[in-house]
Amino acid sequence: MTGSLASLTGAPWYTDRCRARLTGAGQVKNKFGGEGRDEQIGLQRPALLGQPGDRMILPSSDSPHRLGESAIELGPPLPMVSYHAMERWHPERIGALALYCSDGRWGEAFDEFCHRHLQIPRYDRWAVPGGPAWVATPQEDPALHRVIRIQLDFLVRAHELERVVLITHYGCAWYGHLLQRSPGECLSAQAEDVESAAAVLQGWYPGLRVEAYLAMRQHEWVSFHQLDIGDELTRRTHLWPRKSSERTPESLFP
Ligand SMILES: [Zn+2]
Repeated sequence: MTGSLASLTGAPWYTDRCRARLTGAGQVKNKFGGEGRDEQIGLQRPALLGQPGDRMILPSSDSPHRLGESAIELGPPLPMVSYHAMERWHPERIGALALYCSDGRWGEAFDEFCHRHLQIPRYDRWAVPGGPAWVATPQEDPALHRVIRIQLDFLVRAHELERVVLITHYGCAWYGHLLQRSPGECLSAQAEDVESAAAVLQGWYPGLRVEAYLAMRQHEWVSFHQLDIGDELTRRTHLWPRKSSERTPESLFP
């Protein structure tokens, strides 16, 4: 225990019984009622607990564990709980990342597609305006290239990425503002960007599995359509002609 016993025993949740056991004093009947209830009472306010890394030993009188044989790991001091999630945290990484637009109106459908169709639960999410556009453009901007590469290098190494899913969506405001074209007219540029992004990714990480999809919308209904990102040779001879000045984020904010 790294925190001082004095600060621990002064906490409101700390009962006489806990104090007696930790200080070595004799049995003290607590004021909350019967034997064994003090441990329940003592756990009611974890937000007031001690220092990070502290361990608090709370053996029950009828517990098979004796003092020193078991411990409850306490977290750092926190404000009162605002919400307990129904979803559970899972330790296993899935080794997949999806790169898509941050437009929250599409987020639930992206999740459903990845979870149910692609079967990649707990996939890493990389959500930025325009999605794959940011991996397509680094060829033209060394500074942006470096930022993107740092993030991806980390994810490939630390999160053990083996698969990247690129999703571009119909009516993406990023492309609409950038190109000043209608949603339908932007689609060819989006498809080219996805293809370019796939080439960049596979160039950086040979062996990485890359796939791409267009998320389409009709009224409120969303569908997903796989895009042909071709092979490396095809991509090199099939790049969308464009002026680099049209492709940089700065052109959005002159
Ligand atoms: Zn978008």
